[in-house]
Amino acid sequence: MSYIGRFAPSPTGPLHAGSLVAALASYLDARAHQGRWLIRIEDIDETRTVVGADDDIIHTLSALGMQSDEKIIWQSQRKSHYEAAFIELGNMVYPCACSRKEIADSRIGLSPDGAAIYPGTCRAGLPAGRTARSWRIRVPNSDESNNVIEFNDRWQGLVRESLSDSVGDFVLRRADGFWAYQLAVVVDDADQEITHVVRGADLLESTARQIYLQRLLNKNIPQYLHVPVMTNERGEKLSKQTGAEALDISQPVRLLIAAANALGLTINPSEVNSVQTFFDAAVPAWARRFRQ
Ligand code: GLU
Repeated sequence: MSYIGRFAPSPTGPLHAGSLVAALASYLDARAHQGRWLIRIEDIDETRTVVGADDDIIHTLSALGMQSDEKIIWQSQRKSHYEAAFIELGNMVYPCACSRKEIADSRIGLSPDGAAIYPGTCRAGLPAGRTARSWRIRVPNSDESNNVIEFNDRWQGLVRESLSDSVGDFVLRRADGFWAYQLAVVVDDADQEITHVVRGADLLESTARQIYLQRLLNKNIPQYLHVPVMTNERGEKLSKQTGAEALDISQPVRLLIAAANALGLTINPSEVNSVQTFFDAAVPAWARRFRQ
């Protein structure tokens, strides 16, 4: 099997120390497997996209020695592919009239990402007089044998998740035309023939939903590896929302060594004086731990 990996940033701001760790992990894993590494710009949520952030991220990655082995794709240009998969899901998908507030008021619980678990209100059809606000995919009931999704994460170990307990039927599309990340990522990973997904552990709880969609759409299921997310001194995930700073790429080697250390790799700074010598040391260090 030939290895194809990817880094799939959302262009909501410049690359920061946290997203660099995810980028580096995916790049090292691809190189350690003599595989290809792709960049994909996940600009599907246009309300969050910041103009110019895509070029900025691509430029920063390049300055740090990481360039896509194939033409970069943008999710905003691939909506017809999401539409085709959505149609293929047929009557597994149903329209839902519920507002966020109505779902929150049902108080059946919160999913790991903080959203309320969908109680299934519109499963049997839209209530009279209501119109669709979104389309949801049916997940198995808790007593169905395929309710629990299980996968072996290369960093986190065995993960088991019951979709009905953790999220309920989830949104694939909104009436305003918005395509959900879960669907877009599954379609793109399959179209790009991604064999290995390496990304931040904040996406660990999205993985069961993605595997569920991959199964329904008869797609290959990649291997997953979720690296720990970096936190700030307040224990919050480093992100644009928590004020993570853009990287200063005038010292690329320093940034790369710090990211490698965050991944638990020991790189001797005295042996590294350029981006090239950094990768000469970091690729074998990663391979010793993760080539399987
Ligand atoms: N676009 C997502 C993010 O920036 C990453 C998606 C993925 O790697 O699957 O958080």
